[in-house]
Amino acid sequence: MYNPKSHKAEEFICHQEILDTLEYAQKNKNNIEIVDKILEKARLKKGLTHREAAVLLDCDIPEKVEEIYALAREIKQDYYGNRIVLFAPLYLSNYCVNGCVYCPYHLKNKHIPRKKLTQEEIRQEVEALQDMGHKRLAIESGEDPVNNPIEYILDSIKTIYDVKHKNGSIRRVNVNIAATTVENYKKLHDAGIGTYILFQETYHKESYEKLHPTGPKHNYAYHTEAMDRAMEAGIDDVSLGVLFGLELYRYEFAGLLMHAEHLEAAFGVGPHAISVPRIKHADDIDPDAFDNGIDDDTFAKIVACIRIAAPYVGMIISTRESKECREKLLNLGVSQISGGSKTSVGGYFKPMPDSEDSSQFDVSDRRPLDEVIKWLMELGYLPSFCTSCYRQGRTGDRFMEICKSQQIHNFCQPNAIMTLKEYLEDYASDETKKLGNELISKEVELIENEKIKQVVKENLKKIEQGERDFKF
Ligand code: SAM
Repeated sequence: MYNPKSHKAEEFICHQEILDTLEYAQKNKNNIEIVDKILEKARLKKGLTHREAAVLLDCDIPEKVEEIYALAREIKQDYYGNRIVLFAPLYLSNYCVNGCVYCPYHLKNKHIPRKKLTQEEIRQEVEALQDMGHKRLAIESGEDPVNNPIEYILDSIKTIYDVKHKNGSIRRVNVNIAATTVENYKKLHDAGIGTYILFQETYHKESYEKLHPTGPKHNYAYHTEAMDRAMEAGIDDVSLGVLFGLELYRYEFAGLLMHAEHLEAAFGVGPHAISVPRIKHADDIDPDAFDNGIDDDTFAKIVACIRIAAPYVGMIISTRESKECREKLLNLGVSQISGGSKTSVGGYFKPMPDSEDSSQFDVSDRRPLDEVIKWLMELGYLPSFCTSCYRQGRTGDRFMEICKSQQIHNFCQPNAIMTLKEYLEDYASDETKKLGNELISKEVELIENEKIKQVVKENLKKIEQGERDFKF
């Protein structure tokens, strides 16, 4: 029944295969010989199967756990260097016809203020985001065919790309909207989206159906097969995720990796990124009402094991998590974070009074973007506003090929330096600017290719003189 190449949800996310995987992992988690063999394969930095990764996730031999963490750090360094990509969510509308029991936008919530941004309001939000320094957005919307039809999403994408405010521009719009048809995915593709993001929430079918009791999202197969339809429509950068806390994390971990393996087997290209959100308090949602919450240590181990199992994949952590938690996870495999985020519909342009709060969930890391950038640099990271790969046509298998051969540094390192420079010139506080320029001086010298190094040096001067948007 289990068939990673199948396009049927219940065959590529096969319940029995997950149960067998969990049993295999429990049986072998402390079998040194097997754990060592898996670690030996992991050291080749080409990834692991879901079964192998599940053994590492369950393993609790202290020295082996240390080895897992050390390897995750090493793989992160090899594939992503010290770069961390920044983005922000932009909530367009919280009208929703679904009944998701963990989300305050569910249809039965009659007291949360409902809001849908007009195109003019989107323009204002985007200007405010540009004034913070953002270049990459993830648009978010509830599912509501009447209030938020695909035409509204497409108009909004166009508006976002059209806003050119001072030196600002949004150069990549990622889209997180409900599962839809091939036809609609084609429209999104034609609108020039970056990544299509859809969280599975849970891979456990029975739980999925209970957690989504009403609305179109109730259909497990339609939701689980969404990425297949997106890829069929030509979107080759897709981003997976589960909402940790809804089901047993071990089950979700295996499901997530099986989904990644499925995309690779069926389309020859795995997910561009994986998000690891945890359920948070929200308007009428109490996270303690869910039995499967995970502590910070388990969370860190999940991140490290994903990094080892899928070395090439971008890993995203949002402001749902605190500064302390994000600091720990950056070190274990996370490559992309949001900063200065608002999870309400509107709120970037002007602060939202409590009576109008339409937030999807509480944010833990509330620092402004400039503080986040400074903090990243103090920790030794190189903040990047790069959006180049997708604009240069390096998506899907072309991106994966460059990434897997670890040549991505040749593009990403210079692009990170040049986009950080733009940020420093246009938006940074004096302190951040000073720190950033010192960092850039060091990073430029680390560029291995002499020719590229010279071009970057020239471009940095041009950025100081007001030119923008250099990229490899
Ligand atoms: N409506 C679309 C859908 O159904 O996929 C768009 C996604 S929604 C705006 C973004 C994500 O927020 C959801 O996929 C869910 O995982 C997450 N989310 C919902 N409620 C949450 C909560 N209480 N805490 C943390 N994340 C939550």
